[in-house]
Amino acid sequence: MWTTSGRRQFFQTIAATTAATTMSCEQNEDSGGPTPPVLSDPLGVALLGLGSYASTRLAPALQLTKHCRLTGIITGTPSKVGEWQNRYAIEDKNVYNYENMAALIDNPDIHVVYVVTPNHVHAQFAIAAARAKKHVWCEKPMAMTPEECQSMIDACKENGVKLCIGYRMQHEPNTQTVIGYATSKPFGAIQKVEALSGFSGFGSSEADVWRLKRAMGGGALFDMGVYAINAARYVTGQEPVRVKTARQWSERSELFAEVDEWTEFELEFPAGVIASCRTSFGENLNRLEVSCAQGSYFLEPMQAYEGVSGEASDGTQLNLTVQNQQAKQMDDDALALLEGRELLVPGEEGLRDLRILKAIEQSASTGQPVELT
Ligand code: NDP
Repeated sequence: MWTTSGRRQFFQTIAATTAATTMSCEQNEDSGGPTPPVLSDPLGVALLGLGSYASTRLAPALQLTKHCRLTGIITGTPSKVGEWQNRYAIEDKNVYNYENMAALIDNPDIHVVYVVTPNHVHAQFAIAAARAKKHVWCEKPMAMTPEECQSMIDACKENGVKLCIGYRMQHEPNTQTVIGYATSKPFGAIQKVEALSGFSGFGSSEADVWRLKRAMGGGALFDMGVYAINAARYVTGQEPVRVKTARQWSERSELFAEVDEWTEFELEFPAGVIASCRTSFGENLNRLEVSCAQGSYFLEPMQAYEGVSGEASDGTQLNLTVQNQQAKQMDDDALALLEGRELLVPGEEGLRDLRILKAIEQSASTGQPVELT
């Protein structure tokens, strides 16, 4: 345990005052399986990895949720602890580091560990959280390889906890409308998809960031391309049968020495529907378009934190609003856990995307299509 000396000794009252109603999630489990953790509403969430996304998006969003509250932190940087405790009234007993997090097993204040680290350590931390009998929420992309994804799924199953991936778009209302179109087909059969997701970023002063390191899960495809892969799957409601073609390249080769700055790829779905996708760290890309036999629809932006919107060819506006995407995502997932329902985006979703992602890399390196059977 590290020292907590100098830390503020009194804590603000946590805003969420919902009376705790204890319930078990035994209905989630097969009979004879591991004993599931006891849950209470709101769920206690511990953020693991107090970097940019956790600080600027998830922690503020947890102040807006109805069914979760930020009760704990798990960090490898002791200097971050005091500020987080002060800002979010986190008690000393709910502060962990990466070495002592097995002790979470004895902490009833924390029901969920949300893994928000660089991608190469998602698997090890998700598995450690599962072994401590905590439900696991994990950021995208789920891990480095399909094998790591499977080991995370297995660890959660063995320990009687649930696993979901932080694909916030699947919780966003306009995205949910176009996901529904895959079934209702208001414009006839889908013929073609275009999914573009990237941003223009990075300067020479940022050369050491993990997004530029291959071994840490960097690169445009891992970071932003997963949005395009996931979108191609959710708008069609189908799984691709092959990576038809893929190309990876870098234009600022001094910065992108290890990883792709751009990746372009085509996914072929059953009945020959092609999803043409592009992702980049050198170009702002944020559009999802679906062409059908009798019309089309698009979202632009398709993966922004705010303002996701679009239009269909009959003039239908896709302009529903959500107060805070991350708060909705976490409340959706918390309610599913509390009510014993399946999570909207379980680990298997992340695994499917990782299989496709690795096939895209293979296709780009061989110049050949790769079957996804
Ligand atoms: P940052 O680099 O800003 O933060 C990552 C944090 O992880 C660090 O601050 C550190 O926290 C912790 N960490 C643990 N192990 C390591 C390690 N070996 N090297 C470096 N840091 C480590 O990353 P982001 O917050 O931008 O991204 C984190 C995750 O969130 C990624 O998987 C990313 O893809 C995802 N993400 C998702 C978004 C979404 O919209 N869904 C948006 C942005 C990111 P500490 O000091 O506390 O140990």
